[in-house]
Amino acid sequence: MTKQCPNCRSYRITTLDRGKKIGGAIGTVGGAASGVAGVMSGAEFGGIVGAFAGPGGAALGGIAGAIIGGLIGAATGGITGAKLGEVVDQRVLDNYHCLACNYVFNQSTH
Ligand SMILES: [Zn+2]
Repeated sequence: MTKQCPNCRSYRITTLDRGKKIGGAIGTVGGAASGVAGVMSGAEFGGIVGAFAGPGGAALGGIAGAIIGGLIGAATGGITGAKLGEVVDQRVLDNYHCLACNYVFNQSTH
């Protein structure tokens, strides 16, 4: 898939991926936030599992569960955000940048 600049016909085109970057960042933050809910259930789950190992195990299990819940939330949120941002890049933003003449255009421009 080679892109051509509609302004100067150059093939030296790069993508800006602004939406992807922003989406990934927002998704990571949002995912970490929603991961807090996962932290709660993770801590609970870890606590229950750890309880079998005794009182110390419940605390340790709770901490491990909380960390895992937060990490999973942030990771999945980041991926989802980046995917959404990619769609925004392709559909909404002018994602193509001509290196020859600095012209910025989007996919539907011919
Ligand atoms: Zn150009």
